[in-house]
Amino acid sequence: MQYRAPTFRRHVRAHEAVVTNEFWYGDGSPYLGPSFTAKKTAERQADVIGILQRAAKSAETAGDRTLARALWDLADKLYDCSTRARCGSLDCPKCARAFQKAKVAAEEALILELTTANNKTSVASSTKTKKLVMANVVPLEMTFTPTQLATLDIQKRNRWLKETLTRAGFTRVMFGSADISWENGFYQLHWHIGMFTSNRKALTKRLKRIFPGKDKGDRPVVVSKTWSLGFLPYLNKAIKLPELLRRNRTRLPELLLVLDRTEPLDLMVLMKLRLSAQQCRLIIRPI
Ligand SMILES: [Zn+2]
Repeated sequence: MQYRAPTFRRHVRAHEAVVTNEFWYGDGSPYLGPSFTAKKTAERQADVIGILQRAAKSAETAGDRTLARALWDLADKLYDCSTRARCGSLDCPKCARAFQKAKVAAEEALILELTTANNKTSVASSTKTKKLVMANVVPLEMTFTPTQLATLDIQKRNRWLKETLTRAGFTRVMFGSADISWENGFYQLHWHIGMFTSNRKALTKRLKRIFPGKDKGDRPVVVSKTWSLGFLPYLNKAIKLPELLRRNRTRLPELLLVLDRTEPLDLMVLMKLRLSAQQCRLIIRPI
């Protein structure tokens, strides 16, 4: 199997804006919660590097030199990530957190803008105010066993999601992010998407028609109310790293090789929105 090094081509300026601004690596706003301070993230960084190095040694022992090389390279990249030169990898707990924070800050500003615009429209046309919701969309067929994981192309899957929603007639503004969870034996790709709606139940029904369940008990679509913007760090987390470090350490290197090929900003699914960069910040604006 070939492991290609990532070639980051899209969002070059926006990517640079995050990795060259140490503000996103510190403990400033937005706050991601007590488990995601800069200190705890640094500890997690050392843990991830250790896991990669051990996996590289095992691959060497097993005679898989290509895999061993890829894992050593990745471990080195994370080890070399410093304030002078950030690695920008989605695998790097420090960089992934910086991107998560920059995205959350951009979405907070976007939501404020959209809420103001929605309120004006509802007053002017005497219609029901649209409320911000988070839709969790789990296409049940998008599962990957650890060996299938190498075929996962998150960018391609994001395009699929956008096309599927567009084909189903969705024209509203949406800001979402891909997420990979470990589900006892396989990885499940799914999405968390923020959007506005005046009818949450009808929206859920509509999404369920596109992403149906297979068995009783399946919850392929859940549309939750939002009471604050506290859901944004969750929406932009990509993986639950603390949990994976606790429960799935042996499987983690395979996932890390996949994630390293994905640009942190390519995790996002933006509908009718454009991403840009301004003064070391990300900006998301309606098109
Ligand atoms: Zn880094």
